[in-house]
Amino acid sequence: MAKKIIKVKKEIVVKKKQKKKSAKEGVKKTKGPIKEKKISVKEECIKKPKVAIISLTSCEGCQFALLDLGQKFLDLVEKIEMVDFRLLEDEEDAGMDLDLVLIEGNPVTEENVKTLISARKRSKLLCALGNCAAMGGIPEIKNYQEGKNTIKHVYRYIHGISNPPIKEIDNFVKVDFVFRGCPISGEEFLKYFPELLRGNIPTIPDQPVCLECKKKGNKCLFLDKKPCFGPMIIGGCDAVCPTAGMMCQGCRGLRPGGNVKAMKATLKTMMTDEEFENTTEIYGLRDDIEEAERRQKIV
Ligand code: SF4
Ligand code: SF4
Ligand code: SF4
Repeated sequence: MAKKIIKVKKEIVVKKKQKKKSAKEGVKKTKGPIKEKKISVKEECIKKPKVAIISLTSCEGCQFALLDLGQKFLDLVEKIEMVDFRLLEDEEDAGMDLDLVLIEGNPVTEENVKTLISARKRSKLLCALGNCAAMGGIPEIKNYQEGKNTIKHVYRYIHGISNPPIKEIDNFVKVDFVFRGCPISGEEFLKYFPELLRGNIPTIPDQPVCLECKKKGNKCLFLDKKPCFGPMIIGGCDAVCPTAGMMCQGCRGLRPGGNVKAMKATLKTMMTDEEFENTTEIYGLRDDIEEAERRQKIV
């Protein structure tokens, strides 16, 4: 996998250099047939949607899921003007207007929050890239466990270190679409990204992980009295966890039409209250479940 990612990085950097070189040549030579070249390079840039992939505080695993697509990702990059993608280059983002921005990670620092708000202002569409941005992700465990005290496990002297609670990006900006999962599914990215480039917001079908799990021919974990969150979690990951014999822990988030109350009651026949809570904290599902329960009570 590492070799594949390095190859993709190299190819993208080479392509960007070639593109810059062609653009420079077009600018230098302004007479005769070369003038045509200058126009075509410029037109090419105008036509291609401007896209930025911005990483806030994160493990960058969702960006690696994109690089891991290999040639398929390279083909996609051909169709866009990649304005920013930290894993590929060190160049500063010049702050131009964007057609689409993908945000990975959590807005933890003040700088992260500024970057996020600026990205929203600059872009026609903004998408969350992965579980951290959309649901708080693994860092959100801090909110439920020791809160501010968690930092003591990392720093000996904590005076002056900013340590805010973890918040999903939709607490700061409007989010048009969510690429779900930890990490995101590369195949799902290939499916919905072209739609977003056309300015349309796709809808992920409200189908549980169980649907894909059944298609795989897996024996349901419930039959062995083992817990699994699959029925209330929105599918699209090809049921990777139950296929590997592990329960779905809900990294893709709740289905809009899922019956959270009934599902929780079923799971609690197989798990203690503490086990249930701990599992829902892994991917930031806990606050979403609490919110869904509040809504169900009101209805
Ligand atoms: S969602 Fe998962 S893979 Fe993506 S940045 Fe967060 S922790 Fe990393
Ligand atoms: S193992 Fe989990 S995801 Fe698969 S069918 Fe059973 S409950 Fe659904
Ligand atoms: S099975 Fe559940 S935890 Fe595993 S990737 Fe899919 S949604 Fe995430």
